[in-house]
Amino acid sequence: MSETAGNREIIYLDNSATTMVCREAADKAYAAMTESYGNPSSRHLLGIAAADLLREARQNVADALHSRPEEILFTSCGTEADNIAFFGAANAFKHRGNRIVTTAIEHPAVLKAASELENRGFDVVRLRPGRDGIIKPEDLFAAVNEKTVLVSIMLVNNETGAVQPVEAAREAVRRANAPALVHCDAVQAFCRTDVDPRKLGVDLLTVSSHKIHGPKGAAALFIKNGVRIPPMMFGGGQENGMRPGTEALPALAGFGEAARVAAASLTQNAALAARLKARLVDGAKEIPGAVVNSPEDGCPYVVNLSVPGIRSEVMLNALSAKAICVSSGSACSKGAKSSVLAAMDLPRAAADSAIRVSFSRYNTQEDVEKLLREMKNAADTLLKASV
Ligand code: PLP
Repeated sequence: MSETAGNREIIYLDNSATTMVCREAADKAYAAMTESYGNPSSRHLLGIAAADLLREARQNVADALHSRPEEILFTSCGTEADNIAFFGAANAFKHRGNRIVTTAIEHPAVLKAASELENRGFDVVRLRPGRDGIIKPEDLFAAVNEKTVLVSIMLVNNETGAVQPVEAAREAVRRANAPALVHCDAVQAFCRTDVDPRKLGVDLLTVSSHKIHGPKGAAALFIKNGVRIPPMMFGGGQENGMRPGTEALPALAGFGEAARVAAASLTQNAALAARLKARLVDGAKEIPGAVVNSPEDGCPYVVNLSVPGIRSEVMLNALSAKAICVSSGSACSKGAKSSVLAAMDLPRAAADSAIRVSFSRYNTQEDVEKLLREMKNAADTLLKASV
């Protein structure tokens, strides 16, 4: 375990909610606060140093996305990037149609932006996944018509790790001859799998710093060269006028560094996550009644599993008492019922007892062994108490 792994008393398995900032990103953010603290728009030497740091961050994020720096629009969070994509696409094309096609398993940043546009008169189609949590390409082909202005589908689901058929969105738009832009929320995929917007065939793609060991307060929307969407905010000329306001340089510099470090070790990190997932799935067979709700071929960083009979919050609290952090759903839902599991039509007993375990490159086999031990203890005690 490297010394950047933080407080080893705590086993942190909630990396889909947020991650520990890595040493390299923290150092970069610190330097931005204490050395290159000028305003990137200032013309003096400290402004130039800050602008250089901003340029480096943008290049690093662009490199990690196999794209060009001018295609990276920095924002404050993934939620903001999703909203710019939705309202930008809707405003850009509202004269050409009013259908928006998305899925029922998106993050609230997408679901609620879609609902708001529905309130404003758009015709929103929300595709439901199969029991495996995966959207069927045929459903995309059927839903996209010539009036469709936006198709938005996530790459990796935040609750189950299920990988979605994003490439089918471009094909659906082509078949329907729709004016639509294609957006992908790749927040959970970025730097965990190799994300290439061109290979995915998308125009807009969201990523976020705090999911990849970067600081909170930084994210980006990839906007493919040549794609124009109108701004939602007005002010100074920062971010090409698309997102005015003095740049949050410490967070952005940390984001760039986090992307650089994570992209460089992506393959070995993914192999570690695959080993951890395999052990967790195998070890769960020893826990009475346990079922895994994530697809076998899903992104290995996320495993959703249930011990029917033990409610999610009860298991979460039992594990938390042993200094093991997992989630009972997405952090944003704050314990509310999971709309993702509901859309998958998971049996009630499994949905009510679902917990999400999400890994990072700092987790170890011992973390998984301890989790399995404590889940089994909790199951033995709590299930016995309930008979
Ligand atoms: N999209 C997905 C799939 C997410 O998992 C999250 C965060 O959990 C977001 C968007 C929102 O990102 P942020 O927390 O940076 O606003």
